[in-house]
Amino acid sequence: MQRVYLDNAATTPMHREVIEIMTECMQNIYGNPSSTHVLGREAKAQMELSRKKIAELLNVTPSEIVFTSCGTESNNFIIRSSVDYLGVTRIITSNLEHKCVQETVSEMENSRNIEVIRVKLTENGSVDYQDLEQILQSSDKKTLVTLMHANNEIGNLLDVEKVQQLCEEYNALFHTDTVQTLGHYPMDLSKMKIDFASCSAHKLHGPKGVGFAFIRKSLPFKPQITGGGQERGMRSGTENVYGVVGMAKAFEMAIQDLDKHRSHIEKLKSYTIQKLKEEIPGIEFNGLSADFEKSLYTVLNVRLPFKDALIGFELELKGIAVSQGSACSSGAAKVSTVIQSVLDAATIERTTPIRISFSCYNTNEDIDHLVNVLKQINEKHLVAH
Ligand code: PLP
Repeated sequence: MQRVYLDNAATTPMHREVIEIMTECMQNIYGNPSSTHVLGREAKAQMELSRKKIAELLNVTPSEIVFTSCGTESNNFIIRSSVDYLGVTRIITSNLEHKCVQETVSEMENSRNIEVIRVKLTENGSVDYQDLEQILQSSDKKTLVTLMHANNEIGNLLDVEKVQQLCEEYNALFHTDTVQTLGHYPMDLSKMKIDFASCSAHKLHGPKGVGFAFIRKSLPFKPQITGGGQERGMRSGTENVYGVVGMAKAFEMAIQDLDKHRSHIEKLKSYTIQKLKEEIPGIEFNGLSADFEKSLYTVLNVRLPFKDALIGFELELKGIAVSQGSACSSGAAKVSTVIQSVLDAATIERTTPIRISFSCYNTNEDIDHLVNVLKQINEKHLVAH
């Protein structure tokens, strides 16, 4: 059976070169980076070379990169430590953030008495920048703005320039969850007024279980995980040396091939939109995901013109992996909160959302297979009604 993987916003297959460099590292570098003997120093050197490589690609200093276990940990670390150590008493966020931000912010609200304000959204699921400015203006409490760079479900891109300018004007700290965008867009963090960003290697053809947090160096930040004082005291625990080496390689490849891969994926996304419109009358797209200027090019959130809670299962039977938003243990899917915020109840009732997310490994043949299968499912629904 033809296998088609179109769930790259969930995770990506690892590049062969990343697997090779990690395998070599596993075979040869087994010292603990904290050990003072030569084997430890070798492991430490691998860590620091990786940090330097990543820092250079973002045009920041190596000390601004803190290795973590994933995007979730990076976002937790940034939000929690901003409250614990930077005197933040107010957080501005949105209802479309990834759960690891929303849950952490809610915990700060409930257990730490932090004022949390959720910015208004436009009907397409973008931040209402006027509302953001009014909220920023309304108080001089020490504020952290945490808004994601690109939404992982509908792909809407944040106007980072605008938000950083507002944060600067109103003296707020700015965290943007860049898990879906680092390595997909060129970013010179030395020129941007972002205080914190986050990365997860498995979203860019690197290994799972490793990521990093970017913490602007002027900030007196402190750790959430204490112990042996690794990562210059910012995150204790013996480091994931192989993971870090793999992440640095994946990140380097992502930046080197960025233009080539972006152009390939944009053509593929455009081809997908065209084929879907041709073969499935009435098909629409959620959020801004079909707008090439305003959305993440790797994501297309499709609204199928029929209700089918088992669509993921049916696609899987034909070898296709896409995402339905939120999974449910029964195999059927519930409509995600992100989709609920961009669609009215009647539309949700008569349509089915699926998220198609691309990588450099996808081809037009993958799309042809997907569209053919969706066309058959659509025809089955037309006959049934
Ligand atoms: N933030 C966003 C926008 C994501 O899409 C994800 C993962 O889907 C995360 C954070 C969490 O990253 P991780 O899977 O590395 O914990």
